[in-house]
Amino acid sequence: MMTNFHTSDEPRNASPINVTRSYLPPWEEYVQLLRGVWESHVLTNQGKYVLRLQRELQEYLGVQHLFYVTNGAVALQLALATAGIREGEIITTPFSYVATVGSILWERCTPVFVDIESEHFTIDPTKIEAAVTTRTRAIMPVHVFGYACDVEAIGKIAARYNLPVIYDGAHAFGARYKGKSVLSYGDYATCSFHATKLFHTVEGGAVIVHDTATAEKLDLLRRFGHNGDEHISLGIHAKQSELHAAMGLANLPHMSEILAARRRICELYDTLLGDIVQRPTPQLGLEPNYGYYPVLFRGEAQLLAAFAALAGQGIYPRRYFYPSLNKLPYLSQTKACPISEDVASRIACLPVYVGLQDEVVREIASTLNKIDT
Ligand SMILES: *Cc1c(COP(=O)(O)O)cnc(C)c1O
Repeated sequence: MMTNFHTSDEPRNASPINVTRSYLPPWEEYVQLLRGVWESHVLTNQGKYVLRLQRELQEYLGVQHLFYVTNGAVALQLALATAGIREGEIITTPFSYVATVGSILWERCTPVFVDIESEHFTIDPTKIEAAVTTRTRAIMPVHVFGYACDVEAIGKIAARYNLPVIYDGAHAFGARYKGKSVLSYGDYATCSFHATKLFHTVEGGAVIVHDTATAEKLDLLRRFGHNGDEHISLGIHAKQSELHAAMGLANLPHMSEILAARRRICELYDTLLGDIVQRPTPQLGLEPNYGYYPVLFRGEAQLLAAFAALAGQGIYPRRYFYPSLNKLPYLSQTKACPISEDVASRIACLPVYVGLQDEVVREIASTLNKIDT
């Protein structure tokens, strides 16, 4: 058996500490599921594990229709395609992973950035209406770091202009808002089950919708758009394999342990970190998922000093998210988003994962607390 434990007077082992480390279920539990694949010889095309994982995820999240797909980026593209959006403007946030804006561009649409609010870095709903034009086709906000967007305000604006809301919920698995999964809000919500996310299937993602007609359309589009020899519409290949689904089935029963372990680490940081860094404030009614531990430095120079000090100890936090997406060099048009640009210049995520040792958290906190201001 491999152990990572050592006493505090020994030096920490030399392997680098990254911002995250993939959770792995007990080996025997995964192998047990693999046996089922070997016995059936069914590897993909809506096999029994894919269908079972979809059912279990629907139940876990309390949603009616969830489609398990190949990744979170394709999930966003599928949502746009299912909404029938092939051109026009999509209102979105500049503070996200590049996949959000990438999916918009790949679907031949134009991202229109609306700046974020400064409490928990989600799109500022008070600035959305000013960005609506006759070419607007949808709103694509992001529940960044699992902080819920202002779903009520966004829902009202969307209804006023008859626009679908597609939430990029890649970070929102396990987070709840007002007693419901954050992923249950919006006309569409997507998720990523990439290996670096808190619940993963190695690679994978999902699209959540709420009515049967949309679900049927989505189901068709993700498998090339045909039923047998009847070709109905242009589709894409977003089917997931039985091996990936098996990883999801092995991981899902461990969700409460995963959330508890992450919570403990985040709370330890909370108690140890002085006022060298600022922390975002989660909104009232949010039950967080502890997927990330974002901290705001006073400025970029202080962030870089912290990174240099931590790198000296083999510890590598990440600049999430940098740069602000309105600054991407390949955008043909863009506009200033001062809050997002400021946050992006001085925010970082500290390591949080199941198995991260308390003493590493202590080491990180004490290093940060010693940074010159
Ligand atoms: C990870 C991520 C995605 C993309 O998910 P993949 O499964 O890696 O394709 C999309 N949006 C955000 C905000 C993400 O963090």
